[in-house]
Amino acid sequence: MTTTAPATATTTTGELVALAGAHGVANYAPLPVVLAHGEGAWVTDVDGVRYLDALAGYSALNFGHRHPALTAAAHAQLDRLTLTARAFHNDRLPGFQRDLAALTGTEAVLPMNTGAEAVESALKVARAWGYRVKGVRPGAARIVVAGGNFHGRTTTVVSFSDDPSARDGFGPFTPGFDRVPYGDADALAAALTDDTVAVLLEPVQGEAGVVVPPAGYLRAVRELTAARDVLLVLDEIQSGLGRAGATLCGDLSGVRADLYTLGKALGGGIVPVSAVVGRRDVLGVLRPGEHGSTFGGNPLSAAVGSAVCALLATGEYQAAARDLGAHLGARLRELPGLTAVRGVGLWFGIDVDPRLGTGRDVCVALARRGVLAKETHGVTVRLSPPLVVTRDEVDVLVDTLGSVLGDLSGE
Ligand SMILES: *Cc1c(COP(=O)(O)O)cnc(C)c1O
Repeated sequence: MTTTAPATATTTTGELVALAGAHGVANYAPLPVVLAHGEGAWVTDVDGVRYLDALAGYSALNFGHRHPALTAAAHAQLDRLTLTARAFHNDRLPGFQRDLAALTGTEAVLPMNTGAEAVESALKVARAWGYRVKGVRPGAARIVVAGGNFHGRTTTVVSFSDDPSARDGFGPFTPGFDRVPYGDADALAAALTDDTVAVLLEPVQGEAGVVVPPAGYLRAVRELTAARDVLLVLDEIQSGLGRAGATLCGDLSGVRADLYTLGKALGGGIVPVSAVVGRRDVLGVLRPGEHGSTFGGNPLSAAVGSAVCALLATGEYQAAARDLGAHLGARLRELPGLTAVRGVGLWFGIDVDPRLGTGRDVCVALARRGVLAKETHGVTVRLSPPLVVTRDEVDVLVDTLGSVLGDLSGE
């Protein structure tokens, strides 16, 4: 038998990055920072360097690292029951479903684990609803999606992506999707047919660079879909649960969807928890055995999910996102070196003047100065600090970004 040193024997950034290179798979290109500890809006690396986390796990960490109410819920549940599978009821899931339905103003909750699974679930439910309720011919159902979308990484979900790096080499793809330009209600209207069962949209496109659609777009889509007996599915996995300054970003436009997908922050930064929530008559098309997940709705996830719902029920985090976001947006718009600042709530996409460098260059320089952020693509950097940041910490973020842009323009 051969023995290898456990990973814990290596402790420095250099050693751990090398170890990742030796045994990992290069499906990510992480910044050369190795994190070992987190609390609130701050993380510490293996060399003891502290960073302000301005990414917050792409909004999975809306409540910061190790929020005490969330870790307490997880610890308590770890000592009682963690997994049953859905062959049996567990004593945590019904309460979580009640809490999430109440929080989102919806009727039914289908629990899953990751975001991509929630999207897959919503697509399957929409198709089944199309055949069983709307009366679409078997096999003919179509779903309209938007250009620039990001809904996850499974084969079906990348089937309707227009990002070559998400698709190339992974076909053949799942048929049945029609893609129209994001933000163009007329194009969407033209794409609806009698076979269309659903429109799937992000109310604000996160991965595309925090792209906010034109005013009135979501409302127009809601009217068009209602008129054609087409389900509106809003993917709120990144935009929801406080990030945009509301529990659901769609509510900011006065739009109620038939189904919502939720994920990321629903797991409190502790466990993967996702869900499809919405109309009972739509989710109710599923019959026993037709869809499921070994881990979906497990008691540990449900306990954490309920604790997340309790945090959001006060409205405190949604208000913080609005207030801090207004401050962050105003300060970002004063910075030289940016060609665009887009955002909603505490969620911004900034475009760096290409003469200064790429989004990646800015993120590398930010990390050297103690702020962690992530480029989306090209010149765009996404800023989504945890909703627990203080105004002073937002100022640290903007001041550091200002120094980095200043340095890059001086070179
Ligand atoms: C992150 C994300 C997903 C996928 O979630 P995973 O948990 O990574 O599978 C889907 N939709 C949107 C809008 C997202 O931001």
